[in-house]
Amino acid sequence: MNLNKTAVITGASGGIGSSIAKRMNILGYNLVLNYNSNSESLKALVETFENEEVETRIFQADISKFDEAEALMKDAINNFGTIDVLVNNAGITRDKILTMMSADDFNDVININLSGTFNCIKHVCKKMIKQKSGRIINISSVIGLIGNIGQVNYAASKAGIIGMTKSTAKELARKKITCNAIAPGFIQTKMTDAMTDDAKQEIVKNIPLKRLGNPEDIADLVEFLASEKASYITGQVISVDGGLHM
Ligand code: NAP
Repeated sequence: MNLNKTAVITGASGGIGSSIAKRMNILGYNLVLNYNSNSESLKALVETFENEEVETRIFQADISKFDEAEALMKDAINNFGTIDVLVNNAGITRDKILTMMSADDFNDVININLSGTFNCIKHVCKKMIKQKSGRIINISSVIGLIGNIGQVNYAASKAGIIGMTKSTAKELARKKITCNAIAPGFIQTKMTDAMTDDAKQEIVKNIPLKRLGNPEDIADLVEFLASEKASYITGQVISVDGGLHM
């Protein structure tokens, strides 16, 4: 199966990004998979890909750097001609309570999560405008909607992504480009592995569906938002959180 479409996924070496990448391969997208430091995970992931009718490229870029984000998009355009789907998934946490949070803790998270998302949208939008088509899917977080102790930096970055999503959706709608945000709840990846089992159990108590999410729960929604079936949906923030935020 080859859809003749290209998807760029940032942070594809991580838990959620890997799952999205695997799904998009099965669906028949040519892929440009971005990582920052963890090339081994990404190479190992690509070796598990089942669909050999499509091409996959691996591209190192620190998306918080404007020029590196540009190089990532150029790689996709030069090799595949189009970018049909951009998934802005790369993100970090630097959790600390406000009194302990340094300016670097704050700025690092904003630079990667929020400016990185801007950098990627900025370097993909001209191409999508020319194509008069495109799907931009931004991975925000439930924390951007409700806030959290110890995550002033992360919550600000993820709330910023929501504002960026809505403004981008309004600007680009007349060119038939959609832009939506996914707000995952607590998903089992390296990011949540840092939490103790007690902390996880405490969180599960507050989740109506009584479990943490899986990366595949997020890939399911990316699949839908990238598909023709989602062509009339833009500017939305869709929670995938077991009902944590409603
Ligand atoms: P993860 O396993 O820690 O993966 C994070 C990914 O981001 C890695 O691929 C990492 O690349 C990449 N990354 C970090 N800094 C980067 C940079 N400067 N440039 C390019 N890539 C960079 O985390 P995850 O749980 O899969 O999270 C994926 C996204 O979902 C994040 O935006 C996160 O905020 C969001 N999210 C996660 C949860 C959750 O519960 N897990 C909940 C809500 C939202 P390298 O490893 O190669 O450096």
